[in-house]
Amino acid sequence: MKHRVNMLEREKRILVTGGAGFVGSHLVDRLMIEGHEVTVVDNFFTGRKRNVEHWIGHENFELINHDIVNPLFIEVDQIYHLASPASPPNYMYNPVKTIKTNTIGTNNMLGLAKRVRGRLLLASTSEVYGDPEIHPQPEEYWGHVNPIGPRACYDEGKRVAETMCYAYAKQDGIQVRVARIFNTFGPRMHMNDGRVVYGEGQQTRSFQYVSDLVDGLVKLMNRGTSKIVKKPAMQDDPKKRKPDITKAKNYLNWSPQVPMLEGINRTIEYFFNELRRSKHSERN
Ligand code: NAD
Ligand code: UDP
Repeated sequence: MKHRVNMLEREKRILVTGGAGFVGSHLVDRLMIEGHEVTVVDNFFTGRKRNVEHWIGHENFELINHDIVNPLFIEVDQIYHLASPASPPNYMYNPVKTIKTNTIGTNNMLGLAKRVRGRLLLASTSEVYGDPEIHPQPEEYWGHVNPIGPRACYDEGKRVAETMCYAYAKQDGIQVRVARIFNTFGPRMHMNDGRVVYGEGQQTRSFQYVSDLVDGLVKLMNRGTSKIVKKPAMQDDPKKRKPDITKAKNYLNWSPQVPMLEGINRTIEYFFNELRRSKHSERN
């Protein structure tokens, strides 16, 4: 009986967004075999019912055809948030939709996690590093991403998704996990994946088999929360920042006109007037 209670404690209600996709369906297999209640939410943009059809009819399994850009109200303990087109031809097919899925969609899933006090794991990507200038890339590396290039819808979408996870963690105490996934291969990956054969073939990538990824995701999700570390208020303030304004000069004939000291004096005057005004209105 004791054993049974422990089992029940371990069994969770788990949502997998994008669960009909390549990685998601392998994760679903693993979670179902472990005895959890699994709900897959997918709009079948790149995923296929076939990837999870072997679970259809199982009492612990539910498949919902839903686009996460729209709010979703269900009761769960954990959310593996994988819904997003992942390979370049897919995410470039409709860049605006890719952005919406990663921003509005992630916002909805974090809102859900907040309401149910659940834990959310975001499937992020090595693409948050862009075309990295250091090798290998540690988590501390902030990346080298072109914000308006053809990959930006995905790279920046995931970067915002990560930012949102940590903002919800900080503001609402939501438990979040972020996995920056590098290239993964295995059964059910898309035939026209487009991530292995491209260009002149000079680029290098690191590949992992999908079961290793699933292992890592489950471990990351279930690892205890790390201690809260208090950091200085101005965390991440850039050490040096100086724009190269050559293009603005050449194409727009633009360059800054107001000298620093003059600007500071104008600013002081503005704040001085503001303070005087607010004192004045307090008195009246
Ligand atoms: P995939 O395309 O096979 O799976 C993505 C799933 O999300 C699909 O089933 C698709 O239909 C679904 N989806 C997309 N937009 C949706 C929306 N708006 N609402 C609901 N469902 C939606 O891709 P994958 O390779 O399994 O990738 C899964 C996740 O892992 C993605 O978030 C991806 O960014 C990330 N990732 C994968 C790799 C990799 O090598 N496979 C690498 C880095 C990151
Ligand atoms: N949301 C959702 N499911 C829920 C709870 C919230 O899809 O169970 C959505 C909600 O519609 C909102 C988003 O998640 O668009 C963010 O929710 P949050 O509570 O953070 O913000 P608010 O609702 O105040 O905008």
